[in-house]
Amino acid sequence: MKVMKFGGTCMSNNEMMTKVEDVIAREKEEKVILVSAVAGVTDNISGFIESFHSDEEIENYVKELKKLHLKLLPPDEDLTKEATTALDQRFNKLETLLYGVSYTEEITPRTRDLIISMGERLSSIVLATRLRARGLNSSFFNSDELGIITDGVHGNATADLKECERSVGPKIFALSKAGVIPVVTGFFGISPGGHVTTFGRGGTDYSASVLGFACSASVIEIWKDVDGFMTADPKMATDAKQVDKLSYEEAAELAYFGAKVLHPRTVFPAMEKDIPIAVRNVLKPDSAGSMIFKNSTKRKNILKSVSYLRNIATIKVFGTGAGYKTGFLRDISEAMSEADINIYSATTSQTCVAMLIEKSDVKKAQDILEKMLGGYYERLEVTENIALICTVGSGLASTRGIAARVFKVVAANDVNVDLISAGASTVAYHFTIDKKDLQKTIRAIHDEFFPKKS
Ligand code: ASP
Ligand code: MG
Repeated sequence: MKVMKFGGTCMSNNEMMTKVEDVIAREKEEKVILVSAVAGVTDNISGFIESFHSDEEIENYVKELKKLHLKLLPPDEDLTKEATTALDQRFNKLETLLYGVSYTEEITPRTRDLIISMGERLSSIVLATRLRARGLNSSFFNSDELGIITDGVHGNATADLKECERSVGPKIFALSKAGVIPVVTGFFGISPGGHVTTFGRGGTDYSASVLGFACSASVIEIWKDVDGFMTADPKMATDAKQVDKLSYEEAAELAYFGAKVLHPRTVFPAMEKDIPIAVRNVLKPDSAGSMIFKNSTKRKNILKSVSYLRNIATIKVFGTGAGYKTGFLRDISEAMSEADINIYSATTSQTCVAMLIEKSDVKKAQDILEKMLGGYYERLEVTENIALICTVGSGLASTRGIAARVFKVVAANDVNVDLISAGASTVAYHFTIDKKDLQKTIRAIHDEFFPKKS
């Protein structure tokens, strides 16, 4: 059994959807399909619920969304009748929810998750109907009804893999045995209490991995409209090339530290069962894409890719003798976690704990940490104009001279390095620099480790 996931841009118009159908139609193995919302739809719905609207605005909004989806249905009238009925049900529900939010002028994380899950509920109907028009036996399914069980954390849920395996696996096998190609909504599942919970933006990749685990899939294919992992962002280094093979650890570090190829938590369910993940391009269906599995190959030059994060900040908490005080790190990280702030990375010294956080969390972090000042905690320092660079490759931590080469080219380009983290991962180092130096630093590292002639 194969899991095949198609991202929003693969579902952006008739032409792209035809390519998706082609990829599915030529796949001989049993398969289950996972879909994202049509390109831009989740962004659009999320944006719409940022403010409250009049009845007329809501009516027009839903009308437009409907037009967009109806345009993607195949011409066959018998088939579209069923699809339009199903779509209408979803649109009615969405409209009712939007009225509710605007009348009460209130939106809770629970309601938000339910509303933004609509994009996938719509796109799955469209794709299953198109597959039927191609003569394939396909049906659409909602992942909450199917039993993708989560921990109930709204906006950033984690799946209960064992429960998903127990509840969803047999259903998918039964469908497959009956010759049906299920098209399942990505992005969300259901909490034990029965509430829709999303996996965070871009979460359909993670859904695919969860479904892969549940069905003990042979492979999890993540189909996009671009190549897989690259040696660097091609916008930064124009000669960047696709990375053909990565280990789970390499892919996880790259996804976490900025490569926008995969939702950062995608590899974990797959890794539990040793299921390979293939990141592929619908525009190049004959290319194997980037393969992610347990044993990666080492490159002679060690580095596989260099990624970056732009919207981050450093926050440093100073305290004399902090290094000797038990609980210093615990107190800070507890405070941050209570405020729901993710710490990307942290380094400590005798006098300071330095943390990398999302720039949008700076205000919240300052508020919470300032309350702790006094006693050991003396002062805070925030630096916002930074970027993080992450160099990734198996063997990086155990090969002499790699760090020296990285920092030598960085220094040769007159770039100052502030915070460095090495050792926590055996496949990655990361460090921060002034944001204005981002592109030249990426280029310099890329030129050093991926020389143009090789
Ligand atoms: N539609 C959701 C989003 O845009 C999930 C996904 O695309 O994977 O974030
Ligand atoms: Mg999307």
